[in-house]
Amino acid sequence: MTAQLLDGKTIAATIRLDIKEKIANRRAAGERAPGLAVIMVGDNPASEVYVRNKQMACAEVGFHSELYALPATTAQSDLLALIDHLNTDPLLDGILVQLPLPPQMDEEAVIERIAPTKDVDGFHPYNVGRLVLRMPLLRPCTPKGVMTLLAHTGRDLSGLDAVVIGQSNIVGRPMALELLAARCTVTICHSRTKDLAAKVQAADVLVAAVGRAQFVPGAWIKPGALVIDVGINRGADGKLVGDVDFASCAERAAWITPVPGGVGPMTIASLLENTLQAAELHAQH
Ligand code: NAD
Repeated sequence: MTAQLLDGKTIAATIRLDIKEKIANRRAAGERAPGLAVIMVGDNPASEVYVRNKQMACAEVGFHSELYALPATTAQSDLLALIDHLNTDPLLDGILVQLPLPPQMDEEAVIERIAPTKDVDGFHPYNVGRLVLRMPLLRPCTPKGVMTLLAHTGRDLSGLDAVVIGQSNIVGRPMALELLAARCTVTICHSRTKDLAAKVQAADVLVAAVGRAQFVPGAWIKPGALVIDVGINRGADGKLVGDVDFASCAERAAWITPVPGGVGPMTIASLLENTLQAAELHAQH
């Protein structure tokens, strides 16, 4: 392996420690702890793991957190009524609705119901629009975490050619907007993209968010590229693997994220940063 490892686990731990200190100082100054409400509808095992990790992270840094675990049969009107209630709760700065929601729910309508200043996932059209207009407020957590990782390479991103594989609302699209705001020349690739290999081979920065195990081979990596692997997949042996073939890509990249221990911990660190940011916003008003 010639690439340097972008160690999200260590970087995220540093961010959590920094937030923990800030919260201790806030509490010492008589301010309340930031509060996060997490809503989970139904019993999706993966969602349960994510939600537990988010709650543990909140406890570690000293945030107040509340979990609302609703049955899969919950009516959308009841979920919206809960969000309305939480929107006005002065002890809560963030509201997170764990996706996916059961099929009877309209995810867009649910996300739009969250007050934009409490939208710590950064998925509300208001916050996405602010990112489009280069005036970000609460930024989607995974792409924000990727930008923090890229900052740790010490590379100036301005003018670099960046390729994002994946165009989901949660990862690919906001990722492309983040890289554009950092003055990269951005190409967004997706399932209909022609000659993906050639596009990836031209990338100084590659972000893979496809959801297919070891989809990107080392032969596609431009020597010296920064390679960020967002994917979380189960390999044939049951172990977690990313969207890039780590061993062969690490032979060519300058920097690469591992899976696990790369982007995953950064997503949670960004959620904590956003919740603190939301608390600071609410304190001003
Ligand atoms: P998604 O299924 O919504 O989107 C996948 C994207 O990949 C789509 O835009 C699709 O067009 C594209 N795609 C599919 N096949 C392709 C192909 N052959 N060529 C080019 N593009 C193709 O997934 P998502 O929610 O964006 O998540 C992507 C991956 O990232 C998943 O593995 C998910 O588990 C992971 N993820 C990780 C984190 C984290 O914190 N690390 C957060 C969110 C998602």
